[in-house]
Amino acid sequence: MILYNSASRKKEEFITAEPGRCKMYTCGPTVYHYAHIGNLRSYLMEDVLERYLNYTGCTVERVMNITDVGHLASDADTGEDKMLLGAKRENKSVMDIARFYTDAFFADAEKLNIKKPDTVVPATSCIADFIELIQTLLDKGYAYEAGGNIYFDTAKLDKYYVFNDFNEGDLAVGVRDGVGADANKRSQTDFVLWFTKSKFDDQELKWESPWGVGYPGWHIECSSIALKHLGPTLDIHCGGIDNAFPHHTNEIAQSEACTGNAWCRFWFHVHHLNTDAGKMSKSKGKTLTVSVLEEEGYDPIVYRFFCLQSHYRKAMLFSYENLNNARTAFDKLIARIAAVVRQKEEGGLDEQAFAKYKSLFCEALDNDLNTSLALTALYDVLKADISAHTKYALIEDFDRVLGLSLLDHAAASEEASGQKAAGASLSEEAILAAIAERAKAKKEKDYARADAIRNELAEKGVVLIDGPAGTTYQVK
Ligand code: AMP
Ligand code: ZN
Repeated sequence: MILYNSASRKKEEFITAEPGRCKMYTCGPTVYHYAHIGNLRSYLMEDVLERYLNYTGCTVERVMNITDVGHLASDADTGEDKMLLGAKRENKSVMDIARFYTDAFFADAEKLNIKKPDTVVPATSCIADFIELIQTLLDKGYAYEAGGNIYFDTAKLDKYYVFNDFNEGDLAVGVRDGVGADANKRSQTDFVLWFTKSKFDDQELKWESPWGVGYPGWHIECSSIALKHLGPTLDIHCGGIDNAFPHHTNEIAQSEACTGNAWCRFWFHVHHLNTDAGKMSKSKGKTLTVSVLEEEGYDPIVYRFFCLQSHYRKAMLFSYENLNNARTAFDKLIARIAAVVRQKEEGGLDEQAFAKYKSLFCEALDNDLNTSLALTALYDVLKADISAHTKYALIEDFDRVLGLSLLDHAAASEEASGQKAAGASLSEEAILAAIAERAKAKKEKDYARADAIRNELAEKGVVLIDGPAGTTYQVK
């Protein structure tokens, strides 16, 4: 498989150190808020990568951290802890916030058919490991103590800016945030490994350490968790592109200073989901979450389909218009698949055709995980002059990677059209009354009732469409 490696800025053959086994590390969410659908784009494309590696016979050992302490409001060690901000906002304890949003993250991921990694590690569960790693960095001369905090000494590295797209200018974050630069740092690129004295002394979670009571910096958790669970080297490290600098750059500095070896050969970065207003962000305005999409009447898998239509290395623009186009295309795709399912017993398995279309599918994904071309291979199958049986087998096979639950959706659409045919048709008056009742339920925030009304209508073939001018309907 050819993959773009952001460390070399080239497409390269992806080879694992041990044939047939891939050690994959993923930066997990900072659990101070719901994940927005931009965050989930990153996890979704990483899921496709993992599924494709599995599909080609590779066993993936995947580890993900959960950031529940230490991620400050700016990436350059300044500002309040994001977890603390979340706890204050909701008047809850930091650990309550962490538990709630960790569960919410995995519930949303599941709705998008994103597989949970085998090993998920909350940062707060391994503070002793972080302390040990920081001590090693101090012992090896890669860290220093200043003003009560421990810093990584970037001057000790031969090369700090591993991802060449970034430079010193990106670190002027302190200035941007209106927070003064940290006078304890020997160099602006140095970063905190352990805080005992931050500008914000109301940090709720603190631990004993050889350097005083305090808490870890953000970057140390990923180095420590990856080294502990996956060993001294990684095959691939994943994350959103905003994590490349400073987070991944600092992870590399810490891990390689500790082991003395090259740490991770491949870096897989997913580009951003943007809106008209720019990059989607958890801390800016109303967050667009999976639940919001559901409230607007979208099946979360439509969002997965929408993401697969674009290449992971291109920024994606979110708008409801774009999502509606994806929904229309997905509904049509499912209708065509349902027709194949109806005839699936017809004809035998044409092995030659199966191999031909499978290789088209793999060719697309082997070329830097080109998911939109992989979808084209699926459309090629649907229009091919081959037996329905072969088509069915190919759809089932491709969906192991696409993760769109294609056959389940086809079965549900068949069931719905059966009920529609059997059900009594509703009068316009009855439909409008139901729409009014649903609007009232929504206003009263009774989303369960609103969803029930939508579903009852859908079962009778009446599909509601929410728009800026209110709700309209279509009889299907
Ligand atoms: P966070 O919870 O902020 O630590 O972010 C979780 C993951 O989402 C990280 O891999 C980020 O790089 C990624 N991410 C953040 N914003 C976006 C976005 N707008 N589009 C895609 N990925 C994002
Ligand atoms: Zn990380």
